[in-house]
Amino acid sequence: MAEPSLSSSQRNGINLSHDGSPTRASEAPQITETKPAGGQPGSGGIGSDGIARTLPDVPMIDVMGGASRAQINVLDHGFIALVDCMPRLVPQGQTADAAIVQAARVSYGHGTKKVNEDRGLIRYLLRHRHTTPFEMVELKFHVCMPIFVARQWIRHRTANVNEYSARYSILPDRFYTPNLDQVRKQSTANRQGGEELFRVHDDAQELKTAQDFVKYLDDVEGFYQRYLSLTEQGVSREMARIGLPVNMYTEWYWKCDLHNTLRFLSLRIDSHAQAEIRAFAEAMLKLIEPLAPFTIEAWRDYDLGAMQLSRLEIEALQRLLAGTSVNAADGALVSDNSRERAEWASKLEKLAKGST
Ligand SMILES: Cc1cc2nc3c(=O)[nH]c(=O)nc-3n(C[C@H](O)[C@H](O)[C@H](O)COP(=O)(O)OP(=O)(O)OC[C@H]3O[C@@H](n4cnc5c(N)ncnc54)[C@H](O)[C@@H]3O)c2cc1C
Repeated sequence: MAEPSLSSSQRNGINLSHDGSPTRASEAPQITETKPAGGQPGSGGIGSDGIARTLPDVPMIDVMGGASRAQINVLDHGFIALVDCMPRLVPQGQTADAAIVQAARVSYGHGTKKVNEDRGLIRYLLRHRHTTPFEMVELKFHVCMPIFVARQWIRHRTANVNEYSARYSILPDRFYTPNLDQVRKQSTANRQGGEELFRVHDDAQELKTAQDFVKYLDDVEGFYQRYLSLTEQGVSREMARIGLPVNMYTEWYWKCDLHNTLRFLSLRIDSHAQAEIRAFAEAMLKLIEPLAPFTIEAWRDYDLGAMQLSRLEIEALQRLLAGTSVNAADGALVSDNSRERAEWASKLEKLAKGST
């Protein structure tokens, strides 16, 4: 696979390519001197170009720790790399959370300024779905993923995307092929899902089925040589590509604000999302967590790890707590719909886990 060449070090599974040596925001170079183009640098003074520039009164650090790129490899040939973000520079000791707090204080005033108060403010904002301050942080990723993952990903419409053009260039020879022990069976409970794995180590028939599946992908991959040959014979790239399979890798730049990125993560880390896009979402979370730690902590508490209860479910829970219902698992308390009853049962199971 042709990946960007990285002069990189690897920490916590993240490859960091450097402009300098630092790898974490706390170790990042301090930027103490700024040289604005034109005019005089100063604290609020108006330069000769008529622009008033304010220099920071504390040292600034790069939230990406001086790295030009932080990459995690995903699946067999894919990767996700954080290549830029906004804010990139923040006062020493802070993170990109500072931009959220700064925006929120436009509406709430300057009353709270300490770091622990920043955390409280961020938690309040996220809990009460005051979402716009989270749009003040922007994240830009370079992603290489199979086309079938890209098709799910592109449904998140609030991002800005620029994709590799297979009309302009030949697609590189990169196909996603899961290992035998990663082949999933069709779920019986969820028509969209594939959860249980084929028992390739202790069931000969299941091993054979998984092998047949991988062989089928190999056969499809064989079309790549014909694709190349047809383009060499003069078939346009835009036509030749239409016979290629969706396990082929594509690449794009994907830029999104933090609010909508968190929505993407909520939907795509969820167990209902397909395993392959989940792998990218989990890597994305790992990349952004150090950039906005208070926000990610609050999101884990109030969104990812939270549970939504319907009015009917709350009433059933109230009856349960009051002791007026002997059978909480009786789905009829909640709904006459079988799927809703199943969802209620799984919520109860999750709640019960903490009580044992
Ligand atoms: C497990 C799973 C299964 C799925 N299955 C299918 C499927 O079978 N078929 C299918 O077609 N899709 C499917 N999807 C895609 C899904 O329907 C959404 O399109 C996708 O998750 C993007 O969500 P979103 O619209 O909230 O995100 P974004 O497009 O990023 O939008 C974020 C938010 O912005 C707002 N917004 C964005 N655009 C508009 C708009 N035009 N008008 C009003 N508000 C807007 C909405 O509040 C939205 O929630 C599935 C998604 C998941 C997670």
